Amino acid sequence: MTTRLYYKDSFLYNFDAEVREVIDSPRPALVLDRTAFYPTSGGQVFDTGLITASDDSAKLRVTEVADAEDGRVVHYVEALSNDLKPGTRVRGLIDAPRRRDHMQQHSGQHVLSAAFIRLYNMPTVSFHMADDYCSIDLDTLVLTKAQIESAERLANEIILENRSVDIRFVTREQASNLGLRKLPPTERDELRLIAIRDFDLTACGGTHVSQTGQIASILVRKVEKVRQGWRVEFVAGQRAVSTARRDFTALTETAALFSAHIYDVPQQARKALDEIKSLRKQREQSQEELAAAQAAALLADTPEINGRKLVVRSLSNHDLAFIKLLAQKVTRFSPHAVAILATTSPQPSLVFAQSAGQPFDMGTLMKETMTKLGGRGGGSKDLAQGGIPNPDGIEKVLGEVAAKLIA
Ligand SMILES: [Zn+2]
Repeated sequence: MTTRLYYKDSFLYNFDAEVREVIDSPRPALVLDRTAFYPTSGGQVFDTGLITASDDSAKLRVTEVADAEDGRVVHYVEALSNDLKPGTRVRGLIDAPRRRDHMQQHSGQHVLSAAFIRLYNMPTVSFHMADDYCSIDLDTLVLTKAQIESAERLANEIILENRSVDIRFVTREQASNLGLRKLPPTERDELRLIAIRDFDLTACGGTHVSQTGQIASILVRKVEKVRQGWRVEFVAGQRAVSTARRDFTALTETAALFSAHIYDVPQQARKALDEIKSLRKQREQSQEELAAAQAAALLADTPEINGRKLVVRSLSNHDLAFIKLLAQKVTRFSPHAVAILATTSPQPSLVFAQSAGQPFDMGTLMKETMTKLGGRGGGSKDLAQGGIPNPDGIEKVLGEVAAKLIA
């Protein structure tokens, strides 16, 4: 069993220890007689830092720390050193900003979970700490915006009051009489309790601040319905400030696009979307009208040969959707038309169509043409489309397709 120094002092970032075990596979790792490094557990992630030989002959970077089932704490390191053997005296140095961040998030979680219990009797069933946010899952069917805001407010009041956060060790029997927010399922005789003065008492093995003021602030972010209840994402401490900073930057950039105040962005965005919707509708209608007029003109210009009108045309500055619309109009306006259409820009594309009842197979014809032009396409017997990498030789190919249909 490794003696866990963080159990009694979360602010211990430097410590002396002795190497107990050197592990080289599957990953290089050290086990010490005692450690202040926190191994991932209870939703809190591991510490990182350095383990240095007391005579400075070796310096190993600790990249991950894990709990072994038998109570040892395993420090995974980048690489081992021959100077560190069982019995070597070492110094541990924990990455303090990372630890402080974890203490703020984890202690913030205790305060927020207790606030949801105090106000609405909503128990926390799980806690997760990610790189940029944390989340708790609340066991509740309903969670309103007003409830979230009230819990966030109460949590921040408890932080402002700078209440003491104490570590207590009690027996399991003593603990059962104390009215804990959460009793762990383990069979351990001694329990470690975290007490936020007159607000929360819970069993926990993590690292916490010593005064709630050190949490600095709690900002609730996204909430979402999950299988077991509601997931509440939040950030605490410096993360709350950097998250708010990032939000503000994004919002300011967006507001500048609209030349508006940041609080008017939702209204401005709604207005812009409404305009886009209305313009899109107008454009669709203009395209319909334009296609109808062009289709009528093309049919009027095309002589009937063998009882059929073969319309062959290459356009530019029209998209595939437009030439498709045009082909549909041509083959609908005339009961015996075939439309062989192309556009050279913005994206070189082809559309072949025939009036219902005409004898050709546009899908097959398109596939053959695509093979020739190095593009991809296909379709049904009456309507087919394809896209090609460049417009070179489109006119020539249209001529060949037309010649084949006349023959
Ligand atoms: Zn805790």
